[in-house]
Amino acid sequence: MRHNRMFCFVVLTTSLFVAPIANALAAAPCAPVSKAKSPQSDRSFEPCDPEFTYANQADWGGACNSGGIQSPINISNAVVDERLSAPAFSYRSAGPSVFNDCNHYTIKVFPAGDSSTLIYGGHPYRLKEFHFHLPAEDLIAGDRSAMEVHLVHEGIDDPKLTLVVAVLVKAGAPNGLIAILWQHIPDEGVRESPPITINPDRLLPPRDKRGFYTFAGSLTTPPCTPGLTWIVLKEPITFSPDQIKRYTYHGTARKDQPVNREIKQTKN
Ligand SMILES: [Zn+2]
Repeated sequence: MRHNRMFCFVVLTTSLFVAPIANALAAAPCAPVSKAKSPQSDRSFEPCDPEFTYANQADWGGACNSGGIQSPINISNAVVDERLSAPAFSYRSAGPSVFNDCNHYTIKVFPAGDSSTLIYGGHPYRLKEFHFHLPAEDLIAGDRSAMEVHLVHEGIDDPKLTLVVAVLVKAGAPNGLIAILWQHIPDEGVRESPPITINPDRLLPPRDKRGFYTFAGSLTTPPCTPGLTWIVLKEPITFSPDQIKRYTYHGTARKDQPVNREIKQTKN
């Protein structure tokens, strides 16, 4: 649109001095300013001005470096607790909004409203957003996976409750949700709602393979807020090598933190 206006300005200015040319161009289309809604009209933009870098984690400050209970961790010596029951996932297909959050080096996906929920420990939660890290942040007995998906849930009755379900990603068969999502990543700093529907259930392992580790932890990026419940599923999912390669933000894993807490696990 800006380009068209510039073209009109040149034509009209020229016509003041060169009448024959102006006549010849009389039919030149000076496009009116359109008020029609464009497909990009729901875009919002935030400038990319990172407040932290992964190269300088010792300087993150605040809760990040206060020696409290922090995430991620190297999961080992987990105690089997037979009373643990798996989260009851109720994830549904919905149209998401997608944010290329260059400030925090991740792609964030916000499912619509309360389209995806779960119940854990007697509390209902809604899936607020999910995002990615490359490589994985949580280690299993020192083993680091290619990527990690964080599904961040907020308590429906108590919004102060935060539950993160972490799913580890290995290279293997392509993932159907990622096949759709990777085609609709906005420009850096842009949040928009692409014309797609996705079901976050496709980021979970099969129903009969949802054993997990659970422990207290924190956000893994500043301000590293503690007091979160973490569930790390034991069974990884797979993205194809190409899907992993095409993820934009490499090197976005926080160093593992001291394991100064109890880790519980399901039997299987
Ligand atoms: Zn995360």
